[in-house]
Amino acid sequence: TPNTQARLRIAIQKSGRLADECATLFKGAGLKLNLRDQRLLSHCQNLPIDILRVRDDDIPGLVMDGVVDLGIVGENVLEEERLERCATNRSAEFATLRRLDFGGCRLSIAIDKDAQYQGPQSLAGTRIATTYPYLLQRYLDNAGVNASSCMLKGSVEVAPRAGLADSICDLVSTGATLEANGLKEAEVIFRSKATLIQSTKVLDTATQELVDKLLTRINGVIQAKESKYIMLHAPKAQLEQVISLLPGAENPTILPLADDKERVALHAVSSETLFWDTMEELKALGASSILVLPIEKMLG
Ligand code: ATP
Ligand code: MG
Repeated sequence: TPNTQARLRIAIQKSGRLADECATLFKGAGLKLNLRDQRLLSHCQNLPIDILRVRDDDIPGLVMDGVVDLGIVGENVLEEERLERCATNRSAEFATLRRLDFGGCRLSIAIDKDAQYQGPQSLAGTRIATTYPYLLQRYLDNAGVNASSCMLKGSVEVAPRAGLADSICDLVSTGATLEANGLKEAEVIFRSKATLIQSTKVLDTATQELVDKLLTRINGVIQAKESKYIMLHAPKAQLEQVISLLPGAENPTILPLADDKERVALHAVSSETLFWDTMEELKALGASSILVLPIEKMLG
């Protein structure tokens, strides 16, 4: 029978803050890819998937127009594109499959570090430089502030010093760039992470099944990262208290120890990273040989 299944097309950022994490995620999900060369299109060797590598700004539009089936992009870029398309009566439909665990940042308004700030009204009548005019305008409208914005696609943080604007609205993760430019964060207007989205275009059954399988694997990769395998020896008398200290490990495996009737070995998958203070509490309960191991993959 002829193979009629179309190849699943996924857009990711070619280079930049999201590129490496996307490659790592796909590798963890078992996709065999060669992303080292600089080609626009990479064919997955073991699944009918093509990876399209583009500027992150292009990803929301490619998904909304159904040019690609899936995309990974920052929610900041996604929401800005959605607002712009809604304002200009173009289609802005997509489905969110999963918020991812990387690319975290916030879109903030930052002002001169010596300026007085008494809430959003301090921005009234000023000019704010930004790459995100629609997200900024939505914030200003909700706050009831009348301010103007000017579009800068790069070097936003130097705009106040260059006399182009009074303040800026830009992405922040540590705040180091702001500080280096004599600015301080005044207002967080949007919190963002990378997200996996799908076009609303209906796929053939086999391709949709591939999307579901990929999503299950991605969930497994992220869940594994957030989980630990814990092994320890515990006194039988303290077993209940020991188990209650392990987050998300309701059904541990209990094994007898050779030549020790008072103690047992306990193995469990914990849904959270075990911190030093919990390990110290376990030890205080009489637990010993406490091992915390990383989990590589998880299913079901
Ligand atoms: P491209 O060439 O693809 O257009 P870019 O310069 O627009 O790249 P990057 O700087 O690589 O984009 O950032 C991509 C995304 O990473 C941002 O849209 C945002 O979602 C996320 N991000 C996380 N932390 C930060 C940060 N400190 N500054 C900027 N973006 C960040
Ligand atoms: Mg960009």
